Amino acid sequence: MSEKTLLKGGEFLIKETIAQNIFIPEEFTDEQRMMAQSCREFTETQVIPQMDQLEKHDRKLLTKLLKDAGELGLLGISVPEEYDGFGQNFVTSMLTTEEMGKGFSFAVAFSAHTGIGTLPILYYGTEAQKQKYIPKLASGEFIGAYCLTEAEAGSDANSGKTKAVLSADGTYYNLTGVKIWITNGGVADLLIVFAKIDDDKNLSAFIVEANSAGLTLGNDEEKMGIKGSSTVQIYFEDVKVPVENLLGERNGGFKIALNILNLGRIKLSGATVGACKGVISHAVVFANERKQFGTSISSFGAIKFKLAEMAIRTFASESLTYRASQNIDDASQSLTAAGMDKGKASVEAMRQYAIEASIAKVFGSEVLDYVVDEGVQIYGGMGYSAETPVERAYRDSRINRIFEGTNEINRMVIVGELLKRGMKGELDLMTPAMAVAKELMSIPDFGSSTTNYFDGKKKMIVNFKKAILMVAGAALQKFMDKFADEQEIMMNLADMTILTYAAESMLLRIEKLSVKNTTQNIDLMKDMLDVYVYDVASVIHKQGEDAVNTFAVSDEKQAMLMGMKRFTKAQSVNVVAARRRIADKIITDNKYGF
Ligand SMILES: Cc1cc2nc3c(=O)[nH]c(=O)nc-3n(C[C@H](O)[C@H](O)[C@H](O)COP(=O)(O)OP(=O)(O)OC[C@H]3O[C@@H](n4cnc5c(N)ncnc54)[C@H](O)[C@@H]3O)c2cc1C
Repeated sequence: MSEKTLLKGGEFLIKETIAQNIFIPEEFTDEQRMMAQSCREFTETQVIPQMDQLEKHDRKLLTKLLKDAGELGLLGISVPEEYDGFGQNFVTSMLTTEEMGKGFSFAVAFSAHTGIGTLPILYYGTEAQKQKYIPKLASGEFIGAYCLTEAEAGSDANSGKTKAVLSADGTYYNLTGVKIWITNGGVADLLIVFAKIDDDKNLSAFIVEANSAGLTLGNDEEKMGIKGSSTVQIYFEDVKVPVENLLGERNGGFKIALNILNLGRIKLSGATVGACKGVISHAVVFANERKQFGTSISSFGAIKFKLAEMAIRTFASESLTYRASQNIDDASQSLTAAGMDKGKASVEAMRQYAIEASIAKVFGSEVLDYVVDEGVQIYGGMGYSAETPVERAYRDSRINRIFEGTNEINRMVIVGELLKRGMKGELDLMTPAMAVAKELMSIPDFGSSTTNYFDGKKKMIVNFKKAILMVAGAALQKFMDKFADEQEIMMNLADMTILTYAAESMLLRIEKLSVKNTTQNIDLMKDMLDVYVYDVASVIHKQGEDAVNTFAVSDEKQAMLMGMKRFTKAQSVNVVAARRRIADKIITDNKYGF
């Protein structure tokens, strides 16, 4: 790892990130690109042609495809070599996740297996557990699933009722309960099951072989989308689980569940980036071919707006996803270098960047929903036909805002974690928040105007951060320990934070690229940044103003509203011309080519 200064999780809000220190997707090596290419070929030749059949709950086909992926090594990309994997870093696994993301609901099965189905054992397992199960999961001999949710325990996952009782001879646990919504449930060989031992306060985690006596499966759920993934209820009736299959410590399961979800969240955003690129490419091919009023519909400004906006948001999503992924890789490597066990280091790195992982999850899933919606719109009536890929993409997208923690829960994680770290003194939010409060009371300093393109944009982003700190600081002072009850304000703050992180990630990527001078597209990327920063300024303004109006009064309110206006002031941009230039490139390339 280079000698770069690493910002801690959440520190992006109070410190400047140096462009040279972030990872950008343009830096993937040939080897990494080759792995992505293998995933692409597998998706294009094996998965997509069989999607119709897969969507008929064909468990045999799903099993075969997962095993084929295993034979090609695609299931073991991030599994260490000592367990028969390729030992690739996190960023590489994100790139392959992105590629698989173009494979509709197969991507969900793939991600559930390689992520939440495999990693709990890799990160928390004993050496014996890892030796026994990880090579089988990496090769596809075993298919994995993760069983946390219950009928009464969804977002409140630690309230599950599934029970584990130690046998009289102390050799096994008797597991009883019902898990619902289990991805890969119908095809899995190995389950990570969360249950409470006796009357424990917290869950414990168990490795359960799916052929155990007493374990039965429900039928595949009939779902709105991701029909090609198997989702079932699983019933456990006195299922005997050997004591050596307790994963981690007793009472430690909820922590495992949460940490694994951090990982699932950022992986989900990787998959949504791939799905976005796929939909944009389909949409532009259609828009170029489809003629109305004697011309391709791609020549219409209304369609160009959509193509450009889909691309801008996808570019932002990709930028922040890989920026955060590299943070996780760097933290994990530095912890390992300091002597921490690899599995523990991965988990700790993931925990450190939980805020960024939740940002990526919310942003990625909402960008994909936007992209599929506009994708269907570009196809017109054909977008409503089951014959087109956008119809499937539209149905498949919606789940992403619900699983891996709903977007409401993730928004609360973003704000809650920031404040928690602030209170604990891990993040010094206080000093910059007080500086902003002081700035509010002083005569506005408009500073010297800069002619440097990136400095101008950075100044705006610094101001967005001031807007966040102003609202958070004042709201916290007002509500103190009751702040968590003010969910609407937390949602406002989360949105302001997400958009700021997205805009900054985009800016840093383009700045780094402009220094490298290796892309022809830099002016178009600047167009994207111009439009994006201009747009988010008004959204941040509205979110901030909504929050201030709920709790501030009289002079304080006036000062904060004026501050909000000042901090979200945007440079004027000819967004129409910029979007047209962006769209024209996509139209000429006949695909998403950024
Ligand atoms: C297709 C599919 C696949 C899935 N795969 C898996 C899997 O493999 N393994 C697994 O364990 N689970 C899986 N799940 C379950 C999924 O993780 C849960 O559905 C999700 O966590 C939400 O829980 P819930 O459905 O009970 O909704 P609820 O928790 O009941 O939430 C309902 C609504 O209330 C909101 N809400 C809840 N609590 C709060 C709060 N404190 N403050 C504000 N709003 C709140 C939510 O955001 C949501 O809008 C899957 C679900 C689906 C649909």
